[in-house]
Amino acid sequence: MKILLSACLLGVNCRYDGGNNRLAALTDRLKGHELHGVCPEVLGGLPTPRVPAEILGGTVVTADGRSVDSEFRAGALAALQLARMLRPDLVILKSRSPSCGAGEIYDGSFSHVRIPGDGVFAAYLKKEGFRVMTEEEALLALPNMQPSIEGAAERSEK
Ligand code: SF4
Repeated sequence: MKILLSACLLGVNCRYDGGNNRLAALTDRLKGHELHGVCPEVLGGLPTPRVPAEILGGTVVTADGRSVDSEFRAGALAALQLARMLRPDLVILKSRSPSCGAGEIYDGSFSHVRIPGDGVFAAYLKKEGFRVMTEEEALLALPNMQPSIEGAAERSEK
């Protein structure tokens, strides 16, 4: 399968604190699939590291009270363009991120309170009908997934 992932899940140091969210259990199970990574926040021109952000009332704001909504939306649209070109079979997104979170995000209070909702990129993907799941959901689903192309080379892009 062709799979597009949040780049931080592949080990790219694009997370707000300069780290990544690489999950060996996930990447091990993705062997044999065609992998592509994307970070919408970096595509939106935001620096790494950067002040953490959450969605509050439909707008993306930083922990120190600045709106970064336009950067998040520009980055999500650029990432969506990549998805349109790649046409992946599946998109695996980092849970609860204000860009990549799918089905659940933080509530904008920066106190780790979870609420139903999607990050900006995840919402755009869902609106266009892409098959989306979080890395937590993927870990449950992947034992049953087999590569569709025998011997397909594993590939990871930034
Ligand atoms: Fe990872 Fe997505 Fe956040 Fe980039 S925007 S660091 S890919 S969760």
